[in-house]
Amino acid sequence: MGIINQKSAFYELMEKECEISGFTSIASIPLDTKKMKVLSSELNVFFQGNKISKWPGYIKKTAAARADIISAFPWGKSLIMTALPFRMVPASKNKLPEAECDELSGLIAGYAANKTDYHIHLNFLLKGLLERLSEFSGMEIRAEICIDTKPLAEKPLAAISGLGKIGMNSCILCPDEGSGICIGSIISSLSLPEYHSSKAVDIPCSNCAKCRKSCPAGAIGEKNEAFEIDRCISYLSMEKKGILTAEERKMLGEWIFGCDICTSSCPDSNIPPPVAIDLQWLLLSSAKEIEKTIADTPLAHTGITRLRRNAMAVLANKKSEQSTALLEKCILTLNSDLLKETAYQILNEKDIKL
Ligand code: SF4
Ligand code: SF4
Repeated sequence: MGIINQKSAFYELMEKECEISGFTSIASIPLDTKKMKVLSSELNVFFQGNKISKWPGYIKKTAAARADIISAFPWGKSLIMTALPFRMVPASKNKLPEAECDELSGLIAGYAANKTDYHIHLNFLLKGLLERLSEFSGMEIRAEICIDTKPLAEKPLAAISGLGKIGMNSCILCPDEGSGICIGSIISSLSLPEYHSSKAVDIPCSNCAKCRKSCPAGAIGEKNEAFEIDRCISYLSMEKKGILTAEERKMLGEWIFGCDICTSSCPDSNIPPPVAIDLQWLLLSSAKEIEKTIADTPLAHTGITRLRRNAMAVLANKKSEQSTALLEKCILTLNSDLLKETAYQILNEKDIKL
């Protein structure tokens, strides 16, 4: 209640958060408003449409909550959204063993390679923001920090709050950074006024279509609703569980983790280039050594088995003598059924046999 009457001081606090934490854009929006109700009914229609059948299980299961933030967080009065450029995420403790781009290497997306997991870093920044907000308001705040971890329709909410705009690549575009950002949100019990940092008003997606033309998987349509998640290399490499089909393995190309071609081709994006790593290290080192190396990075979420599955797909795509020899070695050394089955399937496909 108090903050609603101290708007300009609150706006100053929000601007200062950008300086303290490195956010390129910040926004707040009250939840119980007409425009949020309109968004909620639009999301309800979206989540009941045909498209959702192709989405991952965890999104399907939480579709109702994603459509209606007010019912999902009945105590929530406001939403704060922040956009942090990936280039501001600090380096990880350990470096991955890099390699020349050769027959035994695979790519890690630039936003993730040798970087602290942005979930960890954003969580730290948002906790600091909450402390300062609590001090400013003089109130105890009930809050939930969400960084892909709660059922929130982050992109539509970022667009309606003025944090950024949804681009053709279906990512949020922010001022000066294009789609090279990660989003962190706070649902809070504080009543806050609507605010967005001034630069966020006119963020263009110029419809230049560089993202669509550069996507190797053909996952991007002309409108962002046409995005084909089940073709996207990022989804296949990071989120898809179990055995990949032959077509999915082919779609991975050289990517072991993520793909940031469409985000880095967006004109204002400032994402580091992908890093090639040594697949012999990934496939033949002990699980303990790999776990230690990736522990604080986004790769830990995907886990060793899926990273190795992807590495095998990359080796298959290389179709070389060296890559086939490494796949054969994996059958003898790895004890995961999924990985053995993956190696057998690949070696049985006649087009990669020597
Ligand atoms: S992440 Fe890669 S595969 Fe997915 S849409 Fe972007 S360019 Fe295409
Ligand atoms: S690359 Fe062009 S079309 Fe694609 S999201 Fe960026 S500005 Fe929009």
